[in-house]
Amino acid sequence: MYLFSKKIKCSSCGKNFKGIKERNKEKYICSSYSNYGKCIRQVIEQNRIVYLVANHLEIDKVKTGVGTSGSKMTLRTKVEDYDQITLEQVMNSVKQINIDPINKTIEILYNDNTRTFVSDDQIYF
Ligand SMILES: [Zn+2]
Repeated sequence: MYLFSKKIKCSSCGKNFKGIKERNKEKYICSSYSNYGKCIRQVIEQNRIVYLVANHLEIDKVKTGVGTSGSKMTLRTKVEDYDQITLEQVMNSVKQINIDPINKTIEILYNDNTRTFVSDDQIYF
């Protein structure tokens, strides 16, 4: 299941990323590259985006007082750890994602007008 279909935009060519399955994992790739061999081959795993969004939501919960302790701020490494955040919440909180394959950055824009921005060393491309 592709959670972010039509929400991921390539900053290089302006087209959407589309879902592909590689080694049984959901990933996204620039549709210009996938369909026409143009743009840049840049693949991102869906789990990586889920991780970033879940972290953001978790931190947001702590900030707004919903969380119970400071330990919730700890970054977690596995998607399965997010027992309190459902994939539906993850999907519904994201407005748009901009991926820049040249500078290797991801910008996630949320429906509440907050954002996550990460660059190269934190991304597994
Ligand atoms: Zn592109």
